[in-house]
Amino acid sequence: MPDTHALVEPSAADQVATYDAIVVGAGISGMFMLYRLRELGMTARVFEAGTNVGGTWYWNRYPGARFDSESWTYGYSFSKELMQEWDWKEHFSPQPDTLEYLNHVADKFDLRRDMQFRSTVTAAHWDDATGQWTVTLEGGQQARSTFLCTAIGILSAHTLPAIPGRDSFQGPAYHPARWPHAPVDFTGKRVGIIGTGATAIQAIPEIAKQAKQLTVFQRRPNWAAPLHNAKIDKAEMEAIKARYDEIYAHCASTAMWFIHQADPRKTLEVPPAEREAFWEKLYGEPGFGIWLGNFRDIGVNEKANAAISDFIARKIRQRVHDPKVAEKLIPKDHGFGSRRVPMESGYFEAFNRDNVTLIDTLADEPIECITPKGIRTTKQEHEFDVLIYATGFDGVTGAFDRIDIRGANGLRMKDAWADSPRTYLGMLAEGFPNMMMVLGPHTARGNIPQAIEHTVQFQTGILRFMRENGYTHVETRPEEVEDWTRTVIEAAEKLLSSKVPSWQTGVNRNVEGRNVPRVLGYNGNGVHFRRKTDDVAKGGYKEFVFR
Ligand code: NAP
Repeated sequence: MPDTHALVEPSAADQVATYDAIVVGAGISGMFMLYRLRELGMTARVFEAGTNVGGTWYWNRYPGARFDSESWTYGYSFSKELMQEWDWKEHFSPQPDTLEYLNHVADKFDLRRDMQFRSTVTAAHWDDATGQWTVTLEGGQQARSTFLCTAIGILSAHTLPAIPGRDSFQGPAYHPARWPHAPVDFTGKRVGIIGTGATAIQAIPEIAKQAKQLTVFQRRPNWAAPLHNAKIDKAEMEAIKARYDEIYAHCASTAMWFIHQADPRKTLEVPPAEREAFWEKLYGEPGFGIWLGNFRDIGVNEKANAAISDFIARKIRQRVHDPKVAEKLIPKDHGFGSRRVPMESGYFEAFNRDNVTLIDTLADEPIECITPKGIRTTKQEHEFDVLIYATGFDGVTGAFDRIDIRGANGLRMKDAWADSPRTYLGMLAEGFPNMMMVLGPHTARGNIPQAIEHTVQFQTGILRFMRENGYTHVETRPEEVEDWTRTVIEAAEKLLSSKVPSWQTGVNRNVEGRNVPRVLGYNGNGVHFRRKTDDVAKGGYKEFVFR
């Protein structure tokens, strides 16, 4: 008898690489997930669309891009050695430094060895029979794994404006989340920018310094407050390093995991002069204090919110010389803090420059279309050399929607989440076994890197528990999903922000079907969230089904 084994060609199926876990995305989430998976002795492969690590900080290279959270609370805390060897140069790190930091982390822990770049995941299908995920990349390559870890970010699915003629513009047009790697020179250029969100608020003052003319097309203004960035010298960095344990313990004890903690007083119980002095102090301090360190009711009480909104409006009027322009920059359709507050460096003063023009596209000059030469409004055609679409992202669920994800019994994630995401703790989704979501919908966020670390710790805790108990399959329990979804919705109900259209409520008018607000995050207290997840872990993960 011939040895037929020697004659059998490996089938296509056998050639598909198989791992314990596949991680989608090599940003802050994917990098840390890989690190922890390796610690567990698991084989893992990270697929990343970009050419290197960094996620948000890889893609968003636009002028002015930087943290508006304190750098020294916004890095990884899992390695004391890493914390001690890295010097943050500024209190609010600019994008190039942050990307350098993330590359340093990738080098230090040799992460790239298990990463494949230029690899956009287009599909991930669960197979009930084999208990495996099959992941497909653009171009057709496939890989399989027992676990799928989505580390795809909450603001990674960028969206272009749904304006007729958008692709007809003959000059260069950029979305800040797809900014060229080589710096863009605006010298002598006529630049048009659409959008006035956090991204544009950072970019406008920087581009205004270079461009011949910058025209800002604003649909709805956003509240913003000064960042007050500063350099960190050697002595200050050493002092920060000496206090890292204390700093991170403090962050873990606050509602949003930042250094800022809401003031326990209620706005209207504080005498007006004292209130005013408190706000002056916060407005003059660095970072999110004016938003997160404010009186505890500004986000839930309309009168309190009106009072702080009035204070910030007065500041805008003081800073912008032309009263008509100032009025246009003051939001009238939502109160301060009911959208994510961008922190700015000279944003309002940019409108005092002769080379900057603000166009109100709701009240004065609606945009009709984009033309080969620029932007045509109802009044005129504005000609530009460069266009910037600072039009944001399909937040939180957008990155999931761009992948054809199918769970048990072929359940499509798009269908499963048509009305609302269904998750337990935002960590695992109902109907999608063995899928761990880092920064999934309905999880607590706040300080994003700290949320990532906490989530990855929790999820790799589940994986360790499974290994110790010989399980290979984990899924959610329907009653726990129901309970958590209710908790998330109840926590959102009392917030003024829940009524305001923004990426945080899942509204993006450039995406079909995304004009109705949804609850996309756990907006309760981060301390309670930590306690809840810790209790689940200590209790042996009874809220999940294992086999
Ligand atoms: P965004 O806040 O969603 O702002 C998008 C802007 O584009 C809005 O002003 C929007 O107007 C406008 N827009 C969208 N489509 C338009 C259209 N078809 N015509 C006219 N205007 C249009 O997006 P983003 O500025 O990119 O910021 C998103 C989030 O990213 C921020 O909230 C923040 O969480 C994060 N971010 C963080 C940092 C940081 O850490 N420092 C920096 C940048 C961004 P409407 O308001 O009328 O829709």
